[in-house]
Amino acid sequence: DSFADLGLSQWAIDTCRELRMERPTPVQSRCIPRILAGDDVLGIAQTGSGKTAAFALPILHRLAEDPYGVFALVVTPTRELACQLAEQFRALGSSLNVRCTLIVGGMNMLGQARALAQRPHVVVATPGRIKTLLEEDPDIPAVFSKTKFLVLDEADRVLDVGFEEELRVIFKCLPKSRQTLLFSATITDELRALLEISQNRSYFYEA
Ligand code: AMP
Repeated sequence: DSFADLGLSQWAIDTCRELRMERPTPVQSRCIPRILAGDDVLGIAQTGSGKTAAFALPILHRLAEDPYGVFALVVTPTRELACQLAEQFRALGSSLNVRCTLIVGGMNMLGQARALAQRPHVVVATPGRIKTLLEEDPDIPAVFSKTKFLVLDEADRVLDVGFEEELRVIFKCLPKSRQTLLFSATITDELRALLEISQNRSYFYEA
């Protein structure tokens, strides 16, 4: 297996080589073609499995084809994870000039609202702060009206921490036609239920 076999563009294959990702990990081999094909994905994968690139690469591939509006919203439980995800999106998307914005607590909210108004390609957020912005700034929901991907990373933890209300607000602002990508260390009934409400074909990956 090579990254070229998975359907990714040449720039993405080159970026992987530059980042010393020589061959795809199992979660990447299995999930990247399904995400490129338009499926929703529930991936059970640990940190260190290469799961971030498993969703970031196909999202960036599609973004390169049609860079309109906020393309992807990535939600993760902690500020630290959000910073790491944004870093990986920037590294993997370096040849595309991807604009990636971090929306987390403890930082200036007005600055974040301004950054969102400029329609970044990828928004990486913690649930609490993105909910506050969506609810308190009347201009923000429209920013997400064309979003193509919702990713919940460490989805079991997002649900476990009791972010249901936050997720409800986030889901309401996203188009129904989006692709939903859930990555989690464990499988839970709530995760299965989240995919069941989707209209897309869905793919279940477990190592
Ligand atoms: P993650 O599981 O997304 O937290 O990734 C763990 C680490 O593995 C990150 O530092 C990635 O840069 C690295 N990585 C991801 N995919 C590959 C790959 N195919 N080959 C080598 N390293 C990789």
